[in-house]
Amino acid sequence: MVHSKVVIIGSGPAAHTAAIYLSRAELKPVMYEGMLANGTAAGGQLTTTTDIENFPGFPKGIGGSELMDDMRKQSERFGTEIITETISRVDLSQRPFRLWKEWADGENEEPAHTADAVIIATGANARRLDLPGETQYWQNGISACAVCDGAVPIFRNKPLYVIGGGDSAAEEAMFLTKYGSHVVVLVRKDKLRASKAMAKRLLANPKVTVRFNTVATQVLGEEGPRGLMTHLKVKNVVSGEEETVDANGLFYAVGHDPATALFKGQIDLDSEEYIVTQPGTSYTSIPGVFAAGDVQDKRYRQAITSAGSGCVAALEAEKFLSEEESSEENPAAATETGQTRIEPAAAEQNAEAAKEKPTGSAAAEYRQNPLL
Ligand code: FAD
Ligand code: NDP
Repeated sequence: MVHSKVVIIGSGPAAHTAAIYLSRAELKPVMYEGMLANGTAAGGQLTTTTDIENFPGFPKGIGGSELMDDMRKQSERFGTEIITETISRVDLSQRPFRLWKEWADGENEEPAHTADAVIIATGANARRLDLPGETQYWQNGISACAVCDGAVPIFRNKPLYVIGGGDSAAEEAMFLTKYGSHVVVLVRKDKLRASKAMAKRLLANPKVTVRFNTVATQVLGEEGPRGLMTHLKVKNVVSGEEETVDANGLFYAVGHDPATALFKGQIDLDSEEYIVTQPGTSYTSIPGVFAAGDVQDKRYRQAITSAGSGCVAALEAEKFLSEEESSEENPAAATETGQTRIEPAAAEQNAEAAKEKPTGSAAAEYRQNPLL
């Protein structure tokens, strides 16, 4: 069993950004990047796509896998230890936190790792529908992210379809009106699930048609491995009537599944099983456990927002660990349980104490940041 100050679970932009910050702060983070965890390769969701055009710093775009390979190299460059295994069991009820690896997680097995702090960045997966033709035209017309893919030329001035009746479907449909000739939203029931305000805007948009009680049944298109989708078969579930419509884009907005099964019952999750974090922070319901990326964000779900929240988690974990160190030397600052509470007043006191005490080692530059 190995002990580390901080372990990161996950390997997307949130995990790697956290790793870069923590390793530069000389905390020697360990990252469990997963071995096809949740069916996705190490590197996360971006490994399943082609060009990323909205990640700053790449004016010509960059391949999703290439971006993640580079992030991995950057994490390693500063000393992150990356382990290609999936964490399949955790015990967050006591400190140090305990983590078990897949295939070695039985009741009587020793944990593979213990840690003073854990950053959860296990991400989420966009739900798919398993329609006939879906595999063939995935990323060749079908996408699960309009904000990511909507601007590509194949969708310009073409009829586009969105499936779903929630806020995401409404937002994505309205976003797509900038590019498509017309956008049709297929809603399987007779009503939208989206908030009233969003639904009103959607229904009022002249470039959008909402078809209620309607589902897609098949995606059709050009032959060959690079063939694009051109048509969609849709069915009215009330009348049973089927038709084939022109469609050059199909955007799924039928929800995401955050990768939180591992933490259920141990940490606060919301009704859709996303990890609950204190707004504007990475703090979870457990001091010392931080969450970043899509696993705690059902609204924005972008590489850059995930990376940003990974940075926040690293800074907060670093602060948590340094406050804990200070309180070990000054027990009056410790709580009854021996854990450092995450409270602004105590945080400020400890930051002051940390400033007065020379650390000797290379103190991270942001430790002096008055915002922290
Ligand atoms: P994820 O990318 O979700 O990665 C988390 C990874 O952690 C998992 O995939 C897995 O490998 C690993 N993991 C999970 N559980 C465990 C475990 N128990 N143990 C160890 N490892 C584990 N965003 C953009 O900004 N621009 C785009 O152009 C864009 N295009 C996209 C295209 C597609 C097809 C998809 C699906 C998404 C796209 N996104 C895009 C969204 C973007 O990919 C996500 O917002 C982002 O990747 C989320 O990052 P994350 O760090 O939360 O984790
Ligand atoms: P939701 O779960 O809210 O909505 C998913 C939609 O997909 C529902 O209308 C559902 O239909 C439909 N659906 C699910 N499965 C299928 C299927 N097999 N075939 C056809 N339709 C299907 O997910 P969202 O991603 O829209 O939203 C997630 C959360 O994020 C919500 O809390 C939302 O409010 C929030 N959010 C907020 C935003 C904002 O405020 N701007 C923007 C985006 C998200 P049915 O209704 O019949 O179940």
